[in-house]
Amino acid sequence: MYQIRIEFTFDSGHRLLDYNGKCAYPHGHTYRAEVFLESQTLDKLGLVYDFTDLKDRIKSWVDENWDHAFLLNSRDSELIAGFSGVAMMRLYQFQDENPSCEVMSRELYQKTAELCGVAPAKVRLWESVSQYAEYHGET
Ligand SMILES: [Zn+2]
Repeated sequence: MYQIRIEFTFDSGHRLLDYNGKCAYPHGHTYRAEVFLESQTLDKLGLVYDFTDLKDRIKSWVDENWDHAFLLNSRDSELIAGFSGVAMMRLYQFQDENPSCEVMSRELYQKTAELCGVAPAKVRLWESVSQYAEYHGET
């Protein structure tokens, strides 16, 4: 089995709705994403997937949607209303779910499958140097 991995970082703000603790406050992270692809076979070029293509597709989606954006639960009406008058603002809403590291890793997994035409083996998303969440495909 072959495995390849790409890695990139992005910066986002978020908060966890209904959470009892520090993460209830709006704050931000420099996230580090790792996307893993696996294959039993290689293409004619000897590749699982072209690193450049893989990174371009995923990173450009993240740049447009999550980087320097605020990630919110769609039920977070307080922050959605608060940001509504801000001209230079990017919001990304998760439908009735908190923008936790777990939910974000699943979203990135699904976007990778959609954009690259191949389901990754897993996505690992680091929220800090000591904490990450992973989402694996269902097998
Ligand atoms: Zn956080």
